Amino acid sequence: MARISIEGVTKRYSDGSAAVDNVSIEVADGEFLVLVGPSGCGKSTLLRMIAGLEDITSGAIRVDDRIVNDLPPKDRDIAMIFQTYALFPHMTVEKNLRYGLKVRGTPKAEADARVQKAAKTLGLLPLMNRRPGQLSGGQRQRVAIGRALVREPSVFLMDEPLANLDTKLRVHMRTEFARLREQLRTTTVYVTHDQVEAMTLGHRVCVLRDGVVQQIDTPDQLFARP
Ligand code: ADP
Ligand code: ADP
Repeated sequence: MARISIEGVTKRYSDGSAAVDNVSIEVADGEFLVLVGPSGCGKSTLLRMIAGLEDITSGAIRVDDRIVNDLPPKDRDIAMIFQTYALFPHMTVEKNLRYGLKVRGTPKAEADARVQKAAKTLGLLPLMNRRPGQLSGGQRQRVAIGRALVREPSVFLMDEPLANLDTKLRVHMRTEFARLREQLRTTTVYVTHDQVEAMTLGHRVCVLRDGVVQQIDTPDQLFARP
């Protein structure tokens, strides 16, 4: 687990406009923070800066007390989950889960244990020998989450992970995410444009508009306001 401090962070693209404008947010250890707002409000840009996939124009991002502005993504102990699953189609579920650990040189016994644990958590044990083409959308998304889980990162970043699912699956997976949130208690920043998703999943919800924080509060408090 880890605490994330976003301190006066601005992102200016080459045309001079600020996609993210002097944003400050503290994400507590084990907190699940949802960034919500209309398309173009800067959600992905902010998430990508935390991941190290986008340079910061000014300000600082700290994970625990360490400034990570110039750290490459691989040194950040962060796992990111995208809306497209990017599973390896020719590999079984088990191999897909194991792949990231193999590249990182995790010892086999340790990798076995982590893969089993993640598969159990996500209900993937009966599906270990299937390939992605033999899975439903929800199952594929669970494999994608599993690939991030096995790394046991301090931080999860999720960019619209349910956006490509049909309505029924999205509702189902929302419940799954809520369960995982409580089970794992890994510090998470979750981006969505769906208000119901934000209210269901966020310990707190941060509403972005035109690159600035409009409100940040618990779902109850946000809802209570006019
Ligand atoms: P969201 O994720 O909320 O839809 P983004 O973070 O993708 O918003 O985009 C925020 C703003 O930054 C938008 O106005 C968008 O057009 C602009 N933007 C995003 N990427 C680039 C880029 N590479 N160059 C210039 N402007 C960009
Ligand atoms: P989930 O929410 O777990 O993704 P779904 O409602 O999509 O579940 O699927 C229900 C059941 O149908 C699953 O238990 C799965 O085993 C089976 N199933 C769905 N798609 C396929 C497929 N392409 N091949 C084999 N079984 C499938």
